[in-house]
Amino acid sequence: MELTMSQTSSALSIQQIFESQKKNQYQVGNTTAKERIHKLDKLHVAVETTYREELREAMYQDFKKHPSEVDLTEIYVVTTEIKHAKSHLKKWMSKEKVSTPMSMMGSSSWIHYEPKGVCLIISPWNFPLNLTFGPLVSAIAAGNTVMIKPSEYTPHTSAVMKKIIATLFPSNEIAVIEGGVETSTELLELPFNHIFFTGAPAIGKIVMKAAAKNLTSVTLELGGKSPTIVDETANIEQAAARIAWGKFLNNGQICIAPDYVFVHQSKKDEFVELVGKKLKEFYGEDASTSDAYNRIVNGKHFERVRSYLEDSVEKGANVAYGGKSNIATNYMDPTVVTDVPLNSKLMEEEIFGPILPVNEYEDLQEAIDFINANEKPLALYIYSKDKKNINRIMNNTRAGGTCINNNAVHFFNTNLPFGGVNNSGIGKSHGFYGFQAFSNARSVYKQNAPGALEMLMPPYNSAKQKLIDMTIKWF
Ligand code: NAD
Repeated sequence: MELTMSQTSSALSIQQIFESQKKNQYQVGNTTAKERIHKLDKLHVAVETTYREELREAMYQDFKKHPSEVDLTEIYVVTTEIKHAKSHLKKWMSKEKVSTPMSMMGSSSWIHYEPKGVCLIISPWNFPLNLTFGPLVSAIAAGNTVMIKPSEYTPHTSAVMKKIIATLFPSNEIAVIEGGVETSTELLELPFNHIFFTGAPAIGKIVMKAAAKNLTSVTLELGGKSPTIVDETANIEQAAARIAWGKFLNNGQICIAPDYVFVHQSKKDEFVELVGKKLKEFYGEDASTSDAYNRIVNGKHFERVRSYLEDSVEKGANVAYGGKSNIATNYMDPTVVTDVPLNSKLMEEEIFGPILPVNEYEDLQEAIDFINANEKPLALYIYSKDKKNINRIMNNTRAGGTCINNNAVHFFNTNLPFGGVNNSGIGKSHGFYGFQAFSNARSVYKQNAPGALEMLMPPYNSAKQKLIDMTIKWF
């Protein structure tokens, strides 16, 4: 097949950038903590000050994201990640001594975190800055060179990120490659030393398969359905407010949004009414006129979300709040649906849009059984004052992360590892865990004085056998 000019040049430039980063990796990798902090400082100023307004405008153009929400869920996340890395980097980079067993007397051992090398970050559109520059902070802190492929669905934000990176870093250190699936596929052919992918589980499988060809390590930050349980002891007003916020922020396009709710039957009506009340408070009687209410990112996702709603209503669900939509503007009301059949799309697929299914349970085990019959979630939320119920849910389910009496906010604590488990992800990010993801924990053993091993080398005899027996027995 003959390549067109633009295909040839794009293929060449991706390959060339990769080769130049490969060459440059030791220079970048041998930087001191001070030098890496200087790079993080440059990124900090760019995001918090120089390009902040441009980023806010870009995200408004991409999906009508309110500037205050850009500040809170994009800018703030990146700047806290930078601040955290800056204050801990020296310690993370210094050798981590480990103790020496008696049998290895005469030696010392430590862990040296070395950069993985040339890394690839592939990011999604739903938090286009946060989920691109967040991992980038960890990659820079760990001393890597990086190629970044942001999402094609938020092109204005991708263009600003490209400009920021091109202004601050040479392309043989960090480069942004814009493009869609084809570009991503082309990048995935290359033998990167690490791939950090954030996106859908189905695409995560494609990434892991491609990485396997080169035995490239991966961090996969994926998604899925994050269940929420509200039991009979919970503060229902607080639960309603926090769930309404966590679900409809970013128009429900959050990997850790409370995907659906199981509420104790004695509290269901109160809960549904209070969620509706909160939604009116947040976005007014008509959310389409609220500047705090985003849109679904594009027509494809709009159609997907609307089809889930139609499917559940056809199967018998009730729309308790909202339900209207407008295809011309990718608008959908903040929508609450109750009594949702478990075989409907809303209970089977990740919703990733502004619909909250609420189902009741009589016995907590029903909720636990439903959760465990599905893929392990990225997050699971528990609203309860009852320690026994909290422990029962914690001990009988599995999830990447959990909030008790809140949702989604565990993402903001840089001291916690963030990530999923199996279908919701592999590996962790944020703070030290992000630094670790982009580092190889190199084991170093140093022989300082003759050790016991020298006495156990061949040829063997009965005295040596006695020593071996003693070693097995006592050390
Ligand atoms: P996506 O997987 O469709 O796209 C993510 C990236 O992968 C984009 O840059 C895209 O260009 C690229 N891509 C898409 N198809 C590809 C293919 N066939 N081969 C190679 N690359 C491909 O995800 P999205 O729609 O942008 O984001 C939504 C998904 O991401 C949801 O499932 C959500 O839960 C998940 N997500 C997870 C996290 C997390 O931190 N765990 C955060 C945000 C979103």
